[in-house]
Amino acid sequence: MIGTKEIVWTGPVPSTVVETKPFWDACNRGIFLVQRCRDCGETQYHYRGFCCHCWSDAIEDLAIEGAGKVWTFSRVLVNRSPQFAQWGVYVTGVVELPEGVKVISRILAENPETIQIGTPVRLAFARAESGQKIPLFVVQEGAIG
Ligand SMILES: [Zn+2]
Repeated sequence: MIGTKEIVWTGPVPSTVVETKPFWDACNRGIFLVQRCRDCGETQYHYRGFCCHCWSDAIEDLAIEGAGKVWTFSRVLVNRSPQFAQWGVYVTGVVELPEGVKVISRILAENPETIQIGTPVRLAFARAESGQKIPLFVVQEGAIG
């Protein structure tokens, strides 16, 4: 069962800049941040210093609940990039969140061949060797019948 053991991240680790540091620091506390604009009310992801809808800088952090659904996905059979070569077959996709954004993410499942569009997933974090926590999504227990 994926949910009971620590997930180890063996892929590349993002470089953090001043603008994205709050997002990555929140990940290390088990929180995934999207942003909401106080001027136009829209939400956005990825994390940045202004609203991508109206360019206002009046944006605030919004911690997601953690539930989502697979919006689309790809099963990667072979990735020749040295940073991903050891992963073998894996799934990456776009997860739609009820907070109003879509997130590109790795998607984990006991049996990746059962993932479908609309499959419920749950936020989880993998731990890189550096200690940085990397967000990803895991197929919810019992979601696939
Ligand atoms: Zn806005």
